[in-house]
Amino acid sequence: MLNKQTADALCTVIALGFMKNNAGETIPHNRTVFQYSGEESKASHDTLAQFLNDKIFAKQGSTIQFSEAPPQSEMPCIVGKTRKISENSEAKSLVDDFWSYITGLSSHAQAKDSAPYGAYIGGRASVGTVDIVGPSYLEPYAPTWRTKSPGEKRDIDTSYKKAVEATNASINIVKNISATTYKKITIRKGDACCIRPKAPPLADNEVFKSYHGMIRAMVAYPPGIDTHAAYFEIALGVNTSKVSSCIPCSIFMSANEVAATSTHLGRGDNWNIPPGQKPMTEKWRKAVNKHYETGMILCGASYSEINSLKTALLESRCSDKIPDIFLEALTFEGPFLEKINRALAIPK
Ligand SMILES: [Zn+2]
Repeated sequence: MLNKQTADALCTVIALGFMKNNAGETIPHNRTVFQYSGEESKASHDTLAQFLNDKIFAKQGSTIQFSEAPPQSEMPCIVGKTRKISENSEAKSLVDDFWSYITGLSSHAQAKDSAPYGAYIGGRASVGTVDIVGPSYLEPYAPTWRTKSPGEKRDIDTSYKKAVEATNASINIVKNISATTYKKITIRKGDACCIRPKAPPLADNEVFKSYHGMIRAMVAYPPGIDTHAAYFEIALGVNTSKVSSCIPCSIFMSANEVAATSTHLGRGDNWNIPPGQKPMTEKWRKAVNKHYETGMILCGASYSEINSLKTALLESRCSDKIPDIFLEALTFEGPFLEKINRALAIPK
């Protein structure tokens, strides 16, 4: 049922629905901002915003805007907003408290040759303490909705190998910086933060799950118990320049009322949810279904790739499994910007 076309179409529908529902969100800490990194990305985002606003959002009384994210040197973290931290300036002052720890981590990851790509360290900050949860964790699995052609097998093996290397490199950096006290903040490393993925070779039918640091932190310390707590994800080193959450993380965060300080249309490749927090996963499932429905209304019948997706879902009678299919759609790798441009056939 899932191939690159239907997967990109599904990711597009859910992303558009999320944009619309996010714009209608009235509580500041439930709302994210969409951003891009670096001046060179401005033109592609402006083109997309103009198309979406003219053809899709205007009819529904909504708009989308992309702003430039602050550079990593100014804001090295993504923060999950809370009632106490509903503005990006408040998130910045939270981070100021353990800035020297972050600088320590980053300086270990500065050398361009050795800095891992897409390396983020998740954690949770509260009064006087910072708990480091660790980088993305990886697990192979056999998918239900997609197959893997021999050509895809090579690419998936390569990206799995790269992901394992990035995780191991990030763990080495976390290990190198001793858990200590900075100013009045005690940095603690959780038991799981330096556990390396087992990383067995992928079987012929297998793809893999990636549990991002932010989501690992949320699952390890469910929201609501400590009202002073805030989740963060540190961008590690010069090769991880996007200090924004991926769309899948952002959807999970907003669904659990800790919206990301910033969201980008980059990659959310192989994103998945660690086991162990059913209530949070249920909220996420509800949100994904809602964004899917909104996205389908937004797109109407005007886009052939979206129409093909609708037909494919109807034929395989799996319209009630959208969140599960979305997870597998994310195993077809690529930035969301490209997925949306392709699925809506947006002229360049
Ligand atoms: Zn993410």
